[in-house]
Amino acid sequence: MAAVGTESNPLRVAIIGAGPSGFYTVSNFLKHKDLHVEFDMYDRLPTPFGLVRAGVAPDHQKDKSVQRAYDKSAQSANFRFYGNVEYGKDINLDDLKQHYHQVMFTTGAPFDRNLGIPGEELAGSHSATEFVAWYNGHPDFANHEFDLTQESVAVIGVGNVAMDVARILCKTNEELAVTDMADYALAALDNSSVKNVYILGRRGPAQAAFTPPEIKEMGEFLDADVTVPAAEAELDAASAAALEEGGDKNAQKNVDFIQEYAARPISGKKRLLNIRFLVSPTEILGEDGKVTAIKIVKNKLVQGDDGSIRPVATDEEEIIPVGLVFRSVGYLGRPLPDIPYNENKGTIMNAQGRVVSADDAPVTGLYTAGWIKRGPTGVIGTNKTCAQETVNCMVEDLAAGNINEPADPSVEGVKALVNSRQSRAVSYDEWLNINEVEVSRGEAAGRPRIKFTNIDEMVEVARSGSS
Ligand code: NAP
Repeated sequence: MAAVGTESNPLRVAIIGAGPSGFYTVSNFLKHKDLHVEFDMYDRLPTPFGLVRAGVAPDHQKDKSVQRAYDKSAQSANFRFYGNVEYGKDINLDDLKQHYHQVMFTTGAPFDRNLGIPGEELAGSHSATEFVAWYNGHPDFANHEFDLTQESVAVIGVGNVAMDVARILCKTNEELAVTDMADYALAALDNSSVKNVYILGRRGPAQAAFTPPEIKEMGEFLDADVTVPAAEAELDAASAAALEEGGDKNAQKNVDFIQEYAARPISGKKRLLNIRFLVSPTEILGEDGKVTAIKIVKNKLVQGDDGSIRPVATDEEEIIPVGLVFRSVGYLGRPLPDIPYNENKGTIMNAQGRVVSADDAPVTGLYTAGWIKRGPTGVIGTNKTCAQETVNCMVEDLAAGNINEPADPSVEGVKALVNSRQSRAVSYDEWLNINEVEVSRGEAAGRPRIKFTNIDEMVEVARSGSS
């Protein structure tokens, strides 16, 4: 028989998770022109593109343009999409070993981190990831409810997700109505009573995780002012020195924006975004099971021997009355059945993308890329180089003969398997039906698309090609 990776005996690769890292796996393989690969990409949702569809903010449509490149990969004759097929439920590791030489796990980091403070369980205390998935129309979150009758909201953390959440809360209907935000979220936000949004950062502006374009947008709302307490915008000596010596241009730009906001007068717009630094939440306070306020402690910054600058609590406390709290302190991975997992890091155990067992030995044929490989950091493009590193390992292992030996590597064998396990699987052409209807509904309303947010409806449109 011809070698694996040739036209008559293609390399069979399964990709679990149709987000950016999944698609960058395909495009990285396609650069190896001499290699014949047949890809099957699985996703638990009927729709592809992961966080590009359900995470990237609806008012950041430019960031979603990467979908065009993903679509190009998906149009390859050797690519198939099995949407609405879940690893661990519809198919398992034994099935994959039966049919593929290599399996890539690109399942991302779908959960959120807790703060571990009292009151997190109160009604009105949510994770930012929940809210983001809700306003983006993720089917698992479409029925969630957020009490937007509250006038004051706290967002904990100063990363870009916190910026997204605060921005969506501060924008007017006019600003949001041109996005592909879920219709129910658009309606709920149109009726929002929110007046005060507090973003709470535990360190100073020089250590903030947001990036300059995102903090710049905070000063450009149609009907919301932005402010920063002057004392919290000031840099301590260690941060100023670190900025000066380190030459971190983004951190410097962040500080410049923050100091400009601290000096900016409040003009009396409908909403006020208050960005706070050097404060840590210590308790979410409530009454009758509902959030009523957040208790914070003021921090001072201390530089460690390694140069890192960390927050240390003082004895000064403050209570901010709020009725809603969104914690936005990072995403968290989820273990996958039968795949070695590092609970501390929230990632699949791996070395350069090769899945490894507890004794660090590579597990033949299993790989990972993206947030579930390295943790929830970086922008969409970071996943390209991340997937490239893993694909290089996959190509190297193929050349060395270190691959799984499937009993049935045929494309037809997999089609039969999927049909027997999930009669409502959605193919890429069927996803294109969903896409076409969403885009045409959007066009009529002057929006990029109007999303389907219910799986039954998606499958119906996928199959019939119309709503
Ligand atoms: P992130 O960038 O890691 O930010 C997490 C924030 O939470 C940090 O400010 C961190 O502060 C804070 N935090 C962590 N533990 C805390 C605690 N116990 N108490 C108070 N604050 C705490 O995470 P993210 O915002 O979820 O974003 C994830 C990734 O997606 C990032 O790489 C981000 O840039 C990317 N993203 C990009 C965009 C975009 O490009 N527009 C949009 C969304 C997300 P410390 O620094 O002090 O730990």
